[in-house]
Amino acid sequence: MNVGFIGLGIMGKPMAKNIQKAGHTVIAYDHHRESIEEIVAAGGVAAESGREVGERAEVVITMLQNSPNVESALFDEGGAAEGLTKGKCVIDMSSIAPLASRDFAKRLSAIGVDFLDAPVSGGEPKAIDGTIAVMVGGDENVYARYEQLLKTMASSVTLVGGVGAGNITKLANQMIVAVNIAALGEAYSLAKKAGVDPERVYEAIRGGLAGSTVMDQKSEKIFKGDFTPGFRIELHIKDLQNALDTSHGVNVASPFTSLAMEIMQSLKAGGHERDDHSGIAEWYEMVNDLKLQ
Ligand code: NAD
Repeated sequence: MNVGFIGLGIMGKPMAKNIQKAGHTVIAYDHHRESIEEIVAAGGVAAESGREVGERAEVVITMLQNSPNVESALFDEGGAAEGLTKGKCVIDMSSIAPLASRDFAKRLSAIGVDFLDAPVSGGEPKAIDGTIAVMVGGDENVYARYEQLLKTMASSVTLVGGVGAGNITKLANQMIVAVNIAALGEAYSLAKKAGVDPERVYEAIRGGLAGSTVMDQKSEKIFKGDFTPGFRIELHIKDLQNALDTSHGVNVASPFTSLAMEIMQSLKAGGHERDDHSGIAEWYEMVNDLKLQ
């Protein structure tokens, strides 16, 4: 397949490389020329614009920061929609607002182009080894056409519902992860101030009910004080803003998400927005005047 790929950042670049490894031709575009060159070096084709990607590819994948970036890559002058024709498809793998996904699907459908929202979880290491989890929203028949393509990047691909359902699932994931990291910071702070080594607490409880993938992946970073990303706080703030807008839009109260959001906002105000989201534990260190390392 000729697969267009727009957005070759932390996640997009290794995902595009996994598509190439499976034998497809990637037509690559990003604002950063160096990222395109890496894909070309691995056998890909450089495009000069989103429009060229749309013209040359039968399916276009986007992996960009947020809704406005996807809108711009698809619909601005020179964007992919100008090159797309009837029967082609856009698969947006960015984590964006579900209402924006539905809007993009409608606008593409007017020119006969299909759309799937297919955000991912797993982070950079899993993007590199092709084991991300993909949650897909869209029409069953369109999904069936591209399921194998999605599996070249992922160990799990799940169709969860119609367009927008992928991003609603991703928001649920991001709410659970944020609140979990905050719980780790809070509980480890209690242990530290009460005179028990937080690392021993982790070893003792990780196999019990409190254990989780978040606990296993983030505790080590917290104990090392190593908050290099990973997943940046500024991107998690974007996800929680989308989660709060969506939950308020459907009349659901999300108090824990709001608290986690304010903690991250306060870290951003202190210049920590580019730290890994495990840096939520830094906030507990600051307000409690302690160190978890
Ligand atoms: P990133 O900032 O590293 O990459 C985004 C890329 O898009 C950049 O290379 C940028 O130059 C490019 N770009 C932006 N607008 C463009 C446009 N209009 N045309 C062409 N290129 C454009 O971001 P990332 O970490 O790869 O994340 C991408 C998405 O995946 C986000 O929605 C994020 O929330 C989600 N996500 C990230 C992770 C993670 O661990 N980093 C994990 C799961 C999901």
